[in-house]
Formats: sequence, structure tokens, C-alpha cells
Amino acid sequence: MEDAGLLNRQTPVLSTEQIGSAVRALTADMVEMLSAFVAAPSPSGQEQPAAAFMEAALHDLGLQSERIHLNSSALESLPLFSPPCCPDGGRYNLLATHRPAGKGGRSVLFNGHLDVVPTGPEAMWTRAPFSPYVEDGWLFGRGAGDMKGGIVCALTAFRALRALGVQPAGAVGFNAVLEEESTGNGALATVSALQSAVGAGKLSSFDAVIIPEPLGESLVSAQVGVFWMNIEITGHPAHAAYMTAGASPIEAAMAVINGLRELEAFWNLPQNRHPAYRDHAQPINFNIGQIHGGEWNSSVPCTCTLGVRIGFYPDMDVNEAKSLVEACVMRAVQRLGGRLAVKIGYQGFHAPGCEFDLDVPSMQTLADAFRKVYGEPVRRVATTATTDARHFRLMLDTPVTCFGPLARNIHGIDESVSIESMVRVAITLAQFIHDWCGVEPLASA
Ligand SMILES: [Zn+2]
Repeated sequence: MEDAGLLNRQTPVLSTEQIGSAVRALTADMVEMLSAFVAAPSPSGQEQPAAAFMEAALHDLGLQSERIHLNSSALESLPLFSPPCCPDGGRYNLLATHRPAGKGGRSVLFNGHLDVVPTGPEAMWTRAPFSPYVEDGWLFGRGAGDMKGGIVCALTAFRALRALGVQPAGAVGFNAVLEEESTGNGALATVSALQSAVGAGKLSSFDAVIIPEPLGESLVSAQVGVFWMNIEITGHPAHAAYMTAGASPIEAAMAVINGLRELEAFWNLPQNRHPAYRDHAQPINFNIGQIHGGEWNSSVPCTCTLGVRIGFYPDMDVNEAKSLVEACVMRAVQRLGGRLAVKIGYQGFHAPGCEFDLDVPSMQTLADAFRKVYGEPVRRVATTATTDARHFRLMLDTPVTCFGPLARNIHGIDESVSIESMVRVAITLAQFIHDWCGVEPLASA
């Protein structure tokens, strides 16, 4: 796939300076677009306001988008399917593709997620999370960094080339997906549609995929696997005055957390690490994201539930990782005697880790584009998070990486993205389109 369309590739006609100026001229538009995008709240499972915004933004660029509906029953047999956290609810991804006038050079797909994570208490934010504002060169709001800013960079790259009187000489796709933050089933829906439509003339395959996730202007060379697990512990309630007659599921949850911390530390030992994570401070993270339990201060509680996110290395099978963690949980509770029951359930991420080959021609072209813009080589990072890149790598074997702007406090309070970093990323993406797809005169409307 890498060499498809090589013969039709046209000679580059624009300088990095020209591309840079064209993007810089759009800085105010980027800020305006990102502000409106952030103001369209889109927590995982309720992405519709952002989908509507995106559909209009693509339309403004002259691109017709196709709605790819999330249909869990059609996806559930796929190995990368994650148990859903919410109903499909008629939600959809948007895929829009620019098609060149000529026979076509090499193609690229920009993939980005529409959903954002919960804000937490609004009172902890300096300003309301969906009321974006700019301060000291940073644009604040939930989703500004992760990852509406990156999506705006990709759209701006395309727009800047058109402002210079050219358009990509190869297909350029924009895929905006649902549920990246909880399952990845949104990207799975598009990838599955691409997979079954190759040759069917509707959707098409792409030679490379770039995901502008906020990974600080570096290229992602590997990502960890991630799964979500719910641990429901039922105890033996009693009056607090006779506490020792009961068995507390909250105390058991504390024992489970300690057990998980021990396993996490074991996986993080230098000798147990995947080579891509040799130099990380802590590659494996078991996050206790939720805890719910108890009924009354003077009662030994009936139940306690933990919601955890488990990271694991790219060379570990997801089902194997699940059984190792399950065994760890069961051991911790069994040590406390027979009056506690544990039920383990899975909703959300079932995501293997993977590595990305950054030495293939498309990824080298991206690294070269970076060097032209920044004047130095791009850094490669193995991320301790998961991204939708796994779907393209593991299902389609399409060259893929993440490359997006610098952000602060993603998944935290007062999330923000650097506007100057967004400009640099947009220039680099425009340079990449120019070098990889080639350009041709703008088709008259
Ligand atoms: Zn993200």
C-alpha cells in the first residue's frame, strides 16, 4: 500500500516558508474554530453536539461527510471490540474524503476523537469547562487539548494549502470518531467499514494514518494495552457496635488495591519491562478511577465497587493480562476469609498494546516534514496511554502514528492547549500532505 500512486505524484511546488505563512495567517481562525468546538460539549456517549459541529466544519471546507453509525452488534465479534459502556443510541462517526482531480497520489487519513472525559466538579475549574477562553497563548476548556485542538490542526493544514491555490493530489480523509476515551468502538466502526468496503468503491483504504493526539509534538512509536475492570465486592453487614462480627467489603477493596499495587510494581520492575518502556519512570499504571460503597456510618457495609483502568505491555495478550489481574484480585479477597464475595465485570476498554513502525516511507516523510518546520529531528515516544492507532495498526496494518500539539492537564482541571504548538503542528501536517500526497491546482468550485 505504501507505494500506491507513486507514479502520479507531482513535484512539490511550495516552500516550507509559504506553507508556514499560510497556516500562520489562519491562527485567529484556528482559535475561533477550536473555541466553538470546545463549546460543543461531547462526553463519551453524548458526542452529538461535537458531531454536528464537525459536520458543519467539514461542509465549510467543501467536504461531504459520510455518517458511519456505531452498530455494536455488527462489531462485537471483532477481536478489538470493547464491551460498551452505553447504548449505541443512533450515534455516528463522520468520514469525509477529499478526492483529487487527477488520478491521485498517495493518500492519508487524519483520525481524531470527538469525545471528551468527564469534567469533574465545575467549581474546581477557573472558568466553566465548556466556556473556552485564551490566556497567555493557551486555549482552555475540556477537550481543548484532548483532542479537539489536534483535529483543528489537521483541518487547518488542508485549508492552508487551499489558501495557497493548491489541493492535495492524493485522497485526504478526515475521520471523527466516538468513544475513544472509553472503548475505541468508534474507530473500530470506521476501520471495519473501510476493511469491508475496500474495492467496493464506497469508502477506500488509506496509505497512512495520522492521529493528532496531544503527545507534545512527538511521534508515537508504541502504546500500552488498556482494559477496564469493575470489581464488585459483597460483604457481611453488621451493627458497627459489633463490627468484628461483620465482614467489610470496603476493607476488602483496600486489600484489593494493595494487591493491585504489588502487581503493578512487579510489572514495572526493570527486568519485567517491554524494551520500548525501558527508560520510563512508570510505564504500567493501574488507576483506581472509581470507588462506590457503603450505606450508613454505623453499619458494616453491604457492598463496595471499584472501577479500575489497567495498563499492560504491548507484548502481552489482553486476555492473559485480564486473567493475571483477576487472579490478583481474587487472592487479595480470599485472604480475608470466606464471607466476602467478588464479582468481576468488564465494560469499556479491551485494548491490546502495539508498536508502530516509524521507518516506513510515510512515517519518514512525516519526520522529514517535522525537520523542515522545526529545524531539528522529531522525538519518538512510547506512550503509557492507549489511542485509536491500534485499530489501524492491528486491523489494517496501515502505517500509523500520533502527532499532535502540546497540551496541559488533559483529563484534569483547567485543560489547555498551546496555540503556538497548534500552529507548528498544522504547518507540519500541511508540509506532510504536500510532500506525501503531492499537490495539484485547486479544482474550480
Ligand atoms: Zn485523546
